[in-house]
Amino acid sequence: MDLLGTADAVAEGELLCSAKGCRAEAAWGLLWNNPKIHTPERRKVWLACDEHREHLEQFLSRRDFWKQTVPVDALDRFSPEARP
Ligand SMILES: [Zn+2]
Repeated sequence: MDLLGTADAVAEGELLCSAKGCRAEAAWGLLWNNPKIHTPERRKVWLACDEHREHLEQFLSRRDFWKQTVPVDALDRFSPEARP
């Protein structure tokens, strides 16, 4: 089962925590879905550092949006520009 197949890709070099005001390097990808605006298979991705992972998971869980948390290395990457 490939749960990451429908997750949004994250850009190379932009793996910073999604928490407000936090510029820490992200260690986790939080996959979420808002059934009111997203198709059921769609996965939006928030990035989180170790410190904010739990906070962001709770934020999404309270709204029933949270689906899964994966290591940031498991996320698909895309390159905005080709780099050597
Ligand atoms: Zn953070």
